[in-house]
Amino acid sequence: MSDKLPLVRLSFATFVTEGSPTRLFRMLEASKLTKRYNAVIALDALDLLVEPGQIYCLLGPNGAGKTTTINLFLGFIRPDGGTARVNGQDVASHSVETKKDLAYIPEQVNLYRSLTGLENLEFFTGLAGHDYPRDKLLEFLLAAGLPGGAADQRVGAYSKGMRQKVGIAIALAKNAKALLLDEPTSGLDPLASYEFSQLLRQLAKEKVAILMTTHDLFRAKEVGSVIGIMRRGTLVTTMSTEQFSHTDMEKIYLEYMK
Ligand code: ATP
Repeated sequence: MSDKLPLVRLSFATFVTEGSPTRLFRMLEASKLTKRYNAVIALDALDLLVEPGQIYCLLGPNGAGKTTTINLFLGFIRPDGGTARVNGQDVASHSVETKKDLAYIPEQVNLYRSLTGLENLEFFTGLAGHDYPRDKLLEFLLAAGLPGGAADQRVGAYSKGMRQKVGIAIALAKNAKALLLDEPTSGLDPLASYEFSQLLRQLAKEKVAILMTTHDLFRAKEVGSVIGIMRRGTLVTTMSTEQFSHTDMEKIYLEYMK
């Protein structure tokens, strides 16, 4: 019995010294992820990793496979090869569990127009199993930047920017570990787009892993930590936003589109 103790200590020490300093935390991970629609390869063996606190922006022309990637992480469609993992779990075999860690903001956040912002938040967080009191729901809406007084207005009267903010409030209330966004700032005015980016930065500071598709290279450079450029279902390059200027990025992007 006594000679087993050093072994246990040794394996723990080995884990701590070998594992911790270099270990990547794989919140969103695609491995050889593939999707076909008959003859069309929408996604071709995609490898991608988003760690907690990272904002990964996917750029690329129409039909490059960006939305397909998001939909595979959400479990909306099934892959024909490879895996999409959320917090280490395969989406295809753990669709219920992985959804608990995710929040999703599409180009148009679908809310009930006849309900107020607060009622929408209450409804959608209720679906996720939360039962927050009114004060707490108001707190989430405020943290998401919804202007004072708007919480009790019907969503039918909201601007697109306000609806996107309710989407952020839902993510906050769900305590989502990862946020998937499909062209969330398209159609927003520059101020609304800037405010939205600030919210994403705040979530990243709180260690949420963010994967966002966009056509806006400027915004991607402003808010992102990593930019991935896709073309015809393939990730053709990735860049750290710190290493390249906006002009360089634009040049690289255009080069890959030739
Ligand atoms: P966009 O910038 O226009 O949103 P995208 O990069 O998001 O484009 P995807 O929507 O992922 O591109 O589409 C990738 C490819 O898969 C395209 O060729 C598209 O036509 C095809 N595709 C996507 N969904 C389907 C579907 N349900 N049935 C058939 N083909 C599809």
